[in-house]
Amino acid sequence: MHLESGLLAAQSAFPLRVGGSSSPETIDKKDLTQNTDSSPGVAPLHGIKKPRYARAGLPSSEAKGLPSGFQKFGIMRILHTLIFLTTLSIAAAILSCNEPVQRSDNQSEPPAATFFWFKGNLHTHTLWSDGDAAPEVSVDWYRRNGYHFLTLSDHNILLQGERWLRVSKIETPMKDLGATFITSEKLDALSAQFGADWVVLRENDGDFEMRLKTLPELKAHFEVPGKFILIRGEEITDRYKTFPVHVNATNLNTLIMPQGGNSTYEVMQNNIDAVQKQAVETGRSMFAHVNHPNFGWGIVAEDLIWLQGDRFFEVYNGHPGVKNWGDDAHPGTDRMWDIVLSMRLKLNRHPVFGIAVDDTHHYHEQRVGKANAGRGWVMVKATALEPELIVEAMERGDFYATTGVLLKNIKMTSDALHIEIQTVSGVTYRTQFIGTPRNFDDSSQPVLNKSGNPAHITRTYSDDIGQIFLETTDNPAIYRFKGDELYIRAKIISDRAHPNPFAKGDVEVAWTQPVGKSVQKFKVQEELAK
Ligand SMILES: [Zn+2]
Ligand SMILES: [Zn+2]
Repeated sequence: MHLESGLLAAQSAFPLRVGGSSSPETIDKKDLTQNTDSSPGVAPLHGIKKPRYARAGLPSSEAKGLPSGFQKFGIMRILHTLIFLTTLSIAAAILSCNEPVQRSDNQSEPPAATFFWFKGNLHTHTLWSDGDAAPEVSVDWYRRNGYHFLTLSDHNILLQGERWLRVSKIETPMKDLGATFITSEKLDALSAQFGADWVVLRENDGDFEMRLKTLPELKAHFEVPGKFILIRGEEITDRYKTFPVHVNATNLNTLIMPQGGNSTYEVMQNNIDAVQKQAVETGRSMFAHVNHPNFGWGIVAEDLIWLQGDRFFEVYNGHPGVKNWGDDAHPGTDRMWDIVLSMRLKLNRHPVFGIAVDDTHHYHEQRVGKANAGRGWVMVKATALEPELIVEAMERGDFYATTGVLLKNIKMTSDALHIEIQTVSGVTYRTQFIGTPRNFDDSSQPVLNKSGNPAHITRTYSDDIGQIFLETTDNPAIYRFKGDELYIRAKIISDRAHPNPFAKGDVEVAWTQPVGKSVQKFKVQEELAK
């Protein structure tokens, strides 16, 4: 899909200022609702306890100099209640992308913003760590294949400074997470693709070495304003004992080294805190997202339930080793998402949004078993193609995740959720509206290991969680709220086989973000806080 044909220019009647700015105060005001552990009226959860965690020296919202939740704004709380229902339908329009503008004669009303859908991949590797191609090969692929933004997120490194790789005639095993050589065959291919002047070589002790291109060099060569941008990123690659804990940072300013910790939860929290700390210190819009929870069975749903300051996890990752579907003992990412959403919303915590990424490592051989480009991505609804606007749109939940199914429109009104699919001839689609009722059974039991002790596996929860409230082949697919839903999300499943699946048998799917009054109130609060 090329930019010229693929952009769905659209307008919204949303009267509040949307699109945001990159001013520091927009950072300071986010996540006001995160620190709600002691919120009055929060029902206790049955069976699961918050992990013990010392937060000494780590940034809480208070440490950032923020008001604690909305306690500081007593009058605002009352206003929330009074205007919530009327604001709900207005705020819901933000999700709608193809609706014509409802112009008002009222001159004091700010002009409605124009939105575009932008296609992007937030998780990509290159020879700067353990990808098998130079970064320009990666960027060139994504730009040629209709992406508008790309984050190169190598392991524990930013694409800056001098990094030289030995030119080798034969492939040698990679050391840890970083490549140490480039084959002469790949070097010749780079010269052929980008010109002999492009490749920078030096001689060192009888060996030739090639210098990797930095992010500024790549930006200068590939970026086209309004059409294609690179967003700085890093995969903060950490672990607890044998469990991998990987967290991506998008649009960060400086390198964040793995922070460590005494549990998978604590490792994840420490790394997310480090991203938040940098966001506050720099005044730059950036976010962390939790990667491939089932990779090495590293992360369990309970880790994500208690996490503070995180809004995203990978419901889909295109790497063949990440076990998106779980197995007999471990729930898949869809089930984890429903557990996490249900429990977080019950605790009055911000919902977690689901993203799809490639986690690209392999550019030279396209097949099942390789981590190839183009498998999963996000479509973000933003007013312009700028890193800060992409970040802020995603933080509002104005995006969907996909492995091939494209949507024309996601619209929430006061009484229904509408999903309009961009159909492909000969392909059929079924839309599942998945959710959890407000009064769900929140009990859960641990999964025991062979010794009879709780294993590091997501607990077993009731079937109340993540029910399919409606499945339809209609287009648009419409779900009318009954009023007792804690949240609703849509999964649109096509019958078209994925052209290059992460695992055999996968079909093209799209996931929209959760909606409902429990979710919407966070949006309303954030808009009011601006
Ligand atoms: Zn990873
Ligand atoms: Zn990765």
